[in-house]
Amino acid sequence: MNRLDRLSLTPVPPEDEALRAPVRAFLAEQLHGLPALRRARSWSGHDAAFSRALAARGWLGLTLPLEHGGAGRSPFARYVLVEELLNAGAPVGAHWIADRQSGPLILKYGTPAQQQRYLPAICRGEAFFCIGMSEPGAGSDLASVRTRAERQADGRWRLNGQKVWTTHAHQSHFMIALVRSSGAPEDRQAGLSQLIVDLSLPGVTVRPITDLSGDQHFCEVFFDDVMLAPEALVGREGQGWAQVTAELAYERSGPERLYSSIVLFDEWLAWVRTPTGRSDAALALAGRIAAQLAPLRALSLAVTARLAAGDSPVVEAALVKDLGTSVEQLIPALIADDLASRPDGCEPPAELLLTLAYISQVAPSFSLRGGTRDILRGMIARGLGLR
Ligand SMILES: Cc1cc2nc3c(=O)[nH]c(=O)nc-3n(C[C@H](O)[C@H](O)[C@H](O)COP(=O)(O)OP(=O)(O)OC[C@H]3O[C@@H](n4cnc5c(N)ncnc54)[C@H](O)[C@@H]3O)c2cc1C
Repeated sequence: MNRLDRLSLTPVPPEDEALRAPVRAFLAEQLHGLPALRRARSWSGHDAAFSRALAARGWLGLTLPLEHGGAGRSPFARYVLVEELLNAGAPVGAHWIADRQSGPLILKYGTPAQQQRYLPAICRGEAFFCIGMSEPGAGSDLASVRTRAERQADGRWRLNGQKVWTTHAHQSHFMIALVRSSGAPEDRQAGLSQLIVDLSLPGVTVRPITDLSGDQHFCEVFFDDVMLAPEALVGREGQGWAQVTAELAYERSGPERLYSSIVLFDEWLAWVRTPTGRSDAALALAGRIAAQLAPLRALSLAVTARLAAGDSPVVEAALVKDLGTSVEQLIPALIADDLASRPDGCEPPAELLLTLAYISQVAPSFSLRGGTRDILRGMIARGLGLR
């Protein structure tokens, strides 16, 4: 049996759609004059002041319960908000991980004390989180994680090891780290746990890595005898594998897997609407790209409907992420072909060329971050009963 019948097409309910207009008005004011090259960074752009401005409107932790400082809204409301933020190219990186996955994870598995400590701070834009899953030698193969947390006689945890590719670790307050709390790497999924690590503790070293485009958004993080309080454990000891699987469904299920090239597409469309940029081939291409994005958006909303129904749509989210990142990667390639085919003397605007150069450089990472294409296809095959 396959699970595709679980992806039923669902419109955004009117009460959630109503959020779009105020969000648009807010973004028009906040992002006024921000060049496309900056907006194209969107969820890798870090701007704490912007995140706090969103929080002041009640738009961080939108789906978290009111008693924890959230807005108690549905996943559809969050979809509308996130779609508008990404379409506008808002710099959402500061709060992104806390809002998307750390908050929901703490809500699902955290103790009441953890919920009280972290969730209101996330909703106020005062607690930024990063994800400590990948390690040198354990990227896709998370079960081989080596970073080790040893429980001490007094209940505290002694943490040693290294994480890598940790987005925004250098600008975050906390990491939720996947660690080995018992057994050996050969034990695979058994013996893994998740811990909340305060990144200001002694023994934590964070080193930013410069990527191809010159940006520093991901980091290496080293733990040298870091001592954590007993209550650093999220959920149950040894249940880390089941918990990260649920967390990755939050990570893969949002519209951010469709819109990484959208600022470029918009910038190109703006030029195609002018007499210099208009051509028959460009009009056909605009239709081709829109025709790929529209059904993907519908699929992505169908995943949101599963979240709204209280499910953890692991396979469905993998499907949309795989298809979505393919289109995100296709857009810069197709736009580059269009620009290259123009006759001599037809000069595209500099901002369009710069944005194309940036997106072309980072596009290979779209299908790596959040889980590689091969891993997602393995999950889809399992969902279809083929593995
Ligand atoms: C921009 C960016 C941001 C990131 N941010 C974070 C972050 O914040 N936190 C974090 O923890 N990680 C982060 N990552 C890491 C990312 O999730 C890993 O890069 C990814 O999971 C792959 O791991 P790896 O790089 O070690 O590659 P590997 O796992 O070594 O994979 C190499 C290749 O082998 C293939 N492969 C591996 N295993 C299998 C298999 N079983 N079957 C078939 N093919 C396989 C992979 O698909 C890939 O093509 C980020 C990565 C990028 C690019």
